[in-house]
Amino acid sequence: MTRVARPSRIPDPISALIDDRLTGARCAGKSPLFDAELDDETAEERSERLTWARGQCTRCPVRGACREAVREQEHPHGVWGGVVHGLPGRPGREAA
Ligand code: SF4
Repeated sequence: MTRVARPSRIPDPISALIDDRLTGARCAGKSPLFDAELDDETAEERSERLTWARGQCTRCPVRGACREAVREQEHPHGVWGGVVHGLPGRPGREAA
């Protein structure tokens, strides 16, 4: 994501995660559910979770901006714009 200037009271690592283009994102506040993998998750649970997450992306009002933002990432990880990044041995997949 693009770094933007933030008030000094927000710690820098958190500030770096804020992107004004993604205001209104359906994943806001649900970030673990959009991770590529979670600890102690079965393959079936992961598949169901990622299918749900990708479905959220199809209805997200900032999907276009999200896809633009992910292109700016050197090593994207997790679900971005309906595509899963960072699963070992698997390329990104488009949302249905
Ligand atoms: S398209 Fe998906 S990953 Fe991107 S901001 Fe929207 S809900 Fe989040």
